[in-house]
This record gives sequence, structure tokens and C-alpha cells, in this order.
Amino acid sequence: MISLADARTQIQAHLRPLAARTVPLAEARGRVLREEVRAREDIPAFDRSAMDGYAVALEDDSAQFRVVGEIQPGANVALQLQHGEAARIFTGAPLPAGASQVLLQEKVRAEGNVITPLERTRTTHVRKRGEDARRGDLLLPAGTRLNAGELALLAGIGVTQPRVSPPCRVAHLVTGNELVDPAMEPKSGQIRDSNSTLVRAFVHAMGGELTFQERVADDFELQFQKVRALESSFDLLLVSGGASVGDYDFGARLLTALGYQIHFTKINLRPGKPTIFATRGPQAAFILPGNPVSHFVVLHVAVRLALDQLAGATVTWPMVQMPLAGDIAYRPDPRETFWPARVTAEDGRLVARALRWQSSGDVTGLTGANVLLQLSGATTAPKAGSPVNFLLLEAP
Ligand code: AMP
Ligand code: MG
Repeated sequence: MISLADARTQIQAHLRPLAARTVPLAEARGRVLREEVRAREDIPAFDRSAMDGYAVALEDDSAQFRVVGEIQPGANVALQLQHGEAARIFTGAPLPAGASQVLLQEKVRAEGNVITPLERTRTTHVRKRGEDARRGDLLLPAGTRLNAGELALLAGIGVTQPRVSPPCRVAHLVTGNELVDPAMEPKSGQIRDSNSTLVRAFVHAMGGELTFQERVADDFELQFQKVRALESSFDLLLVSGGASVGDYDFGARLLTALGYQIHFTKINLRPGKPTIFATRGPQAAFILPGNPVSHFVVLHVAVRLALDQLAGATVTWPMVQMPLAGDIAYRPDPRETFWPARVTAEDGRLVARALRWQSSGDVTGLTGANVLLQLSGATTAPKAGSPVNFLLLEAP
């Protein structure tokens, strides 16, 4: 049995990023950038007005200015201001030569083509060329996930075909004779399969693509044939159930028969101890313990790392300390425990509460989970108000 930290080291060490390719900006959301992006020119590229008003020279202290022209955004100006001259200007318009300040229109009196400043300050109301970034500055490092802000930046600097990772192709085999489709009425002894839905939502949220998902009975030969038929059409294989040592837990045998090399079969983790990780060339596989809470935790603390590593994403482990609000029904356990918890904003503060956790099979305790409370083999339950570690799931 290895520690979670060692398991994570192994996962990272055995996986290489998928081959990158260029995609149109419109298809790049959620993808991981695989090249660094630098400013190709100064940003902004020219001095421009930040306000509606009148462009003048900052040092020109004339009592009145003659308005010699008007400049709209997008205009190509050939104007050169002389002493005592101003140009009518609007937000975003380029400053004319000789201008270095914009007088707000609310702060001048305009009569015909003459303006009288009502006050002068040193504030320029000008966005200077290069004030946001200089040509050659690093704007986005490789490994950045592209979301709204990053995509807007790429558009703004003309990077319309960014080099990114393809979505990781995930095949999911859901094992268990007891499982039925969630739309079915379970017969005696049967349960609805919640892991298919959990895994689908997780893979999509992480920018992956679920290319295969099927429920299959606890039958070694059947499971083997299913995966073998997929050949190399996936990057990551997830098998739900069968990670343990029961008579019908074929996970390790299955992976070995399929030509995988197994790197670990147990993590000192609660829930999620019987987790198997293996690789076959560039392909990765996990066998996940079937309980939904175990699934949720292992997906976040281990599978997510594999997805990030395959995507070439910068790996983060966003752990923060916050006081625990309320009590927790924690029974001391030598394993590193990750307890589903929820952070909410209450009266202007972040408040972190443990969710109810009856057992690893309890799906009712997962709703609203946005952090995992980490308890590293604590021998007593943390008291309400004491500082505890939380792993953020919506990584900042
Ligand atoms: P296993 O890891 O296959 O031994 O399963 C552990 C527990 O999780 C058992 O109680 C299973 O019935 C339950 N379980 C397994 N797979 C699923 C699933 N897809 N959805 C909900 N519960 C499951
Ligand atoms: Mg099972």
C-alpha cells in the first residue's frame, strides 16, 4: 500500500501529454494550451483615449482650446495638435499627435468650437501604448486551460489557431451483476448504476471525451472481450468496481491480461483504498472501487491528475486551510481521509462544512460537494472552529 502522494508521483511519472494540434479559437474552450503565448506587439498597440472628451497636451495650460477636429474609435488620424488646440475624442479612439491627456467632457464648457476647462488635473485618461504588456512579454504559459478570459486574450492578440491538447478519450466499463440502468426499476438485490452518470459528468467537466461507456456483468471473459475490442481507441480506461479482492473482482487480472503494467493496487486512502493504476504504452487505466463516494474521491485525487497529465495541463493541488464549521462524524482512521464537504459564502465569509457521510455507498452525501476535507490519519475528530485542510475541487 502506498501513500496518496506516492500514488500521484507514479501517475505523473508514467504518463506523457497527448500529441498537440492546432484548433480554431471557437473549438478551444476547456482545452489546454501547449505553447507559450507572448505578446506579438505592445498592448495596447497605440495610445488611446479612455474617456469621452477632448484631447489636449498635458503641458498646454491654455485657458481655452480651439477644437480643430473630431476622432472616433477606429479612425486613422492625421491630426497634429498645436499649442492652444484640442480634438474632440471618444473612448477607444487613437490620440492625435501632440496630445497626451483627455479632458473629460463633463469637466469642460463647450461653446461653438472653443472649450474652456473647468479644472485641470494630472490624470491623463489615456491608455498608453504598451501599458498592459510589451511586445515579447509572456501572456500565457504552456499548460494553461483556456476559458473565457484566456480565449478573449488570444482573440485580442490575433492567436486564432492555438496549439492545444485534444480531449482525452475515456472508455468506461461499469462492472457489477447488481447494476441496472437508472431508468429501470431495480428488482430485489439490484441497485441503480450511479457511477456511469458520475463518471460522465466528471470526464466532461475535466475537458475529456467519453468515447465508450457500458455496463457489464461480473464475468472476466466478457469484460476482457469488451476492452480488447476497443484496441487503442481510448487514452484512459476507467473500470468501475472489481478493484478489491472479492471472488468477482477481476480488475488486476483483467489489466494484466490486456497487456497493462500495474503500478499500484492500493492507496492509503479513505475512501478509495483498493484503487489500481496501470499503463500500456501511452494508455492509462484505473480500476475504481465501486462505491459512489469512493468514486468521487478517487476521481478527484487521482484520475483528475491523469487527465491533467495527458492534457499537458499545469498540475495543481489547491489545498487551503479554513476553520471547520459545525461537527463531523469522523471516526479516527490511519488512512489519509478525504471527506466530501461544501464551502459556501455566508455573511461575506467562506464557511466550510463537512457533508453527511454515512458510508462510501451513500450518494445523498455528495450533493453540493465542492471541496474535500483532508484528514491525514487524525486520531481525533477535528472540533468545530479548528483549522482544517480543504482540497478545492473547482481549482482556482
Ligand atoms: P465493488 O467495488 O464492485 O465491490 O462495489 C462496491 C460497492 O459499490 C457495492 O455495494 C456495489 O453495489 C456498489 N457499486 C458498484 N458499482 C456501482 C455503480 N455503478 N453505481 C452504484 N453503486 C455501485
Ligand atoms: Mg462489483
